Amino acid sequence: MDYSRRIRSLTRDLEQPLLVTDLRNIRYLTGFTGSSASLLATPSGCTFFTDGRYSETAEELVSGLPDTKLVVSTSGLHETLSQAMSSEAEVQLEAAHVTWDFVDRLRHETSAELIASTGIVERYRRCKDSEEIEALRRAAAAGDDAFALLSDLLETSTTEENLAERLVMAMREAGGERAGWGPIVAAGANASRPHHETGADQVGPGVLLLDYGCTVAGYHSDMSRTVHTSEAADPELDRVHRAVQEANEAGIAAVSPGVVAGDVDAVCRKVLENHGYAEYFTHSTGHGVGLDIHEEPWLRRGSEDVLEPGHVVTVEPGVYLPGRLGVRIEDMVLVTESGHEVLTSSSKELRHA
Ligand code: ZN
Repeated sequence: MDYSRRIRSLTRDLEQPLLVTDLRNIRYLTGFTGSSASLLATPSGCTFFTDGRYSETAEELVSGLPDTKLVVSTSGLHETLSQAMSSEAEVQLEAAHVTWDFVDRLRHETSAELIASTGIVERYRRCKDSEEIEALRRAAAAGDDAFALLSDLLETSTTEENLAERLVMAMREAGGERAGWGPIVAAGANASRPHHETGADQVGPGVLLLDYGCTVAGYHSDMSRTVHTSEAADPELDRVHRAVQEANEAGIAAVSPGVVAGDVDAVCRKVLENHGYAEYFTHSTGHGVGLDIHEEPWLRRGSEDVLEPGHVVTVEPGVYLPGRLGVRIEDMVLVTESGHEVLTSSSKELRHA
């Protein structure tokens, strides 16, 4: 990953110093994957702060970054940070990622004026470069590989938890790493809860909703499929599945550079409305995916985010009939110069007997 270019872009664009504390943003800018670091970015250069546990790693990493110096704190990161910040008149903090307690302590310890900022680094993270796209592609492929094994995995799985574990193992064998979140495996009526907590319930013949992913080089995949593992007829499930698949395909077709993300959401909602299921689509249509499983841009009602080449987003409409069934179909879609490319390629067939 080209961290030097990222650091240069940030410092070039900054008007006021920014204290980056979100570890995902720090990873994006520097490649650091540990659990304790801050980056003070100013128009004239950066200071990377960490503690003694990471001094060796950080030294190596910072030596490759332009105009960046390293401070390893031995007395407590807070004190070190506030001292360094005192040489600035004003410092922006990442309002979405700092705690009240952190700000309160800083206020007492530094003379710099603290200002709230939102989404500064996140805006750079929206557009993926070729290496990021490659990682996302490989993560999506690992999810597809696991789905291709579903019949085999089902043969040896008795509970939702079993199947979830096997999906994770299958993705690891396909080159993915375990994501910070476990697969959602919802069997039978459990599928009517969009974020069902995978548990000890039996995976028997019937509807089965899967929502899962892995990471490659820290980049997430995210996909959902709903299958019917019973020979028995279920006309209502067939109807719902057809409607959701149509919404998913219409949403994907709407993904293109220059399109307002809220309009993609509206396209999916319109399809489900035509089928009489609008009120059962109870979440948003999708989200960006990258170092975070859910990140900008947001494909939700009223979102004014504009899709650009390099964005990777999910399109995941769903319909949930309480206590009865649920269907969600989710794909990862790359916005290209001329339209889009779907990164997930698993079959959307409902029948899976
Ligand atoms: Zn998702």
